[in-house]
Amino acid sequence: DSVFANLVQAPEDPILGVTVAYNKDPSPVKVNLGVGAYRTEEGKPLVLNVVRQAEQLLVNDRSRVKEYLPITGLADFNKLSSKLIFGSDSPAIRENRVTTVQCLSGTGSLRVGAEFLAKHYHQRVIYIPHPTWGNHPKVFTLAGLSVKTYRYYDPATRGLNFQGLLEDLGSAPSGAIVLLHACAHNPTGVDPTIEQWEQIRQLMRSKALLPFFDSAYQGFASGSLDADAQPVRLFVADGGELLAAQSYAKNMGLYGERVGALSIVCKSADVAAKVESQLKLVIRPMYSNPPIHGASIVATILKDSELYREWTIELKAMADRIISMRHQLFDALRARGTPGDWTHIIKQIGMFTFTGLNTQQVAFMTQEYHIYMTSDGRISMAGLSSRTVPHLADAIHAAVT
Ligand code: PLP
Repeated sequence: DSVFANLVQAPEDPILGVTVAYNKDPSPVKVNLGVGAYRTEEGKPLVLNVVRQAEQLLVNDRSRVKEYLPITGLADFNKLSSKLIFGSDSPAIRENRVTTVQCLSGTGSLRVGAEFLAKHYHQRVIYIPHPTWGNHPKVFTLAGLSVKTYRYYDPATRGLNFQGLLEDLGSAPSGAIVLLHACAHNPTGVDPTIEQWEQIRQLMRSKALLPFFDSAYQGFASGSLDADAQPVRLFVADGGELLAAQSYAKNMGLYGERVGALSIVCKSADVAAKVESQLKLVIRPMYSNPPIHGASIVATILKDSELYREWTIELKAMADRIISMRHQLFDALRARGTPGDWTHIIKQIGMFTFTGLNTQQVAFMTQEYHIYMTSDGRISMAGLSSRTVPHLADAIHAAVT
């Protein structure tokens, strides 16, 4: 008998499991709105033109070898990544108060940051929004932090529960870590306004709460890299400390290359150097050092002004297509006279719409219309196209009437 015979079958990941079910469905009209990955109008994955160009340059450079990167990753990549999120004129960078380490995309950056905090930070509790990306609680719990939630979303308005958020952060213990989605909150698509961010900042700084930004969608929300980084920069500008996890999965379409960065902004260059030395001790026994290819692509694009410009254009085109899907879906529901207020579809931000459809309605749409989405009613607008919008609108209409 196997030594593992007693294992129980683990459930499928709630998000990745949607695709498993989708792949099994033979229906020609099936639509997958579960994955958080961009698709073209034709429903195909997209490799950005700048990424192809950068790869070509890398292939043609015969001086490139396959040596190990340092534990902290590609130095150029780290420098350019911190400029991308904090701004090229950031005083924190100029004063050498930022340490940045290349990690395995957004997830790996969150995990390394969490392991570091669990080991070296005095307050081992992290507040995450309710709801949040399904992987957050697991990443932080397994790293050794204790996870609490703060109110974020108001189902009645399908908007921000700002009062609840302020109350919950206001009663958090001093020094607690707070996870903040930098922009395009997943799964709700609801972000604070910049004035609300300023109030959050004041409250958090007054209670010495430690911000941990998760930036998985910079540029993908509004189409502007700078606009989407505004909340993070607001917190850097006051001189206080924070962590930021960056992912290039969505904004450069580098999903499977697993390229991201963890930055820790400190009060002084001296502290930043010590922090970096300890980050190396977190990383070395976990995976030694990060992969070279994806980070080289990113560095190539970020340091060449022409490639950078082309990237911003391609990025804006992706953001604009998603926004256009919001309008098309909204118009299609209007045209059908579907009962309910669907304005949240055009108000919400980023890749996802939190439709407000319940578990039964989602199950109905999957069964009768072969539309796949997470059971919380979240749909990926990036998975929609002009061709599939009418089918989705029919399905929603049938589900709510
Ligand atoms: N954080 C949020 C909020 C996300 O939505 C995602 C991806 O869906 C991630 C982090 C991490 O993604 P990755 O590890 O692919 O960069």
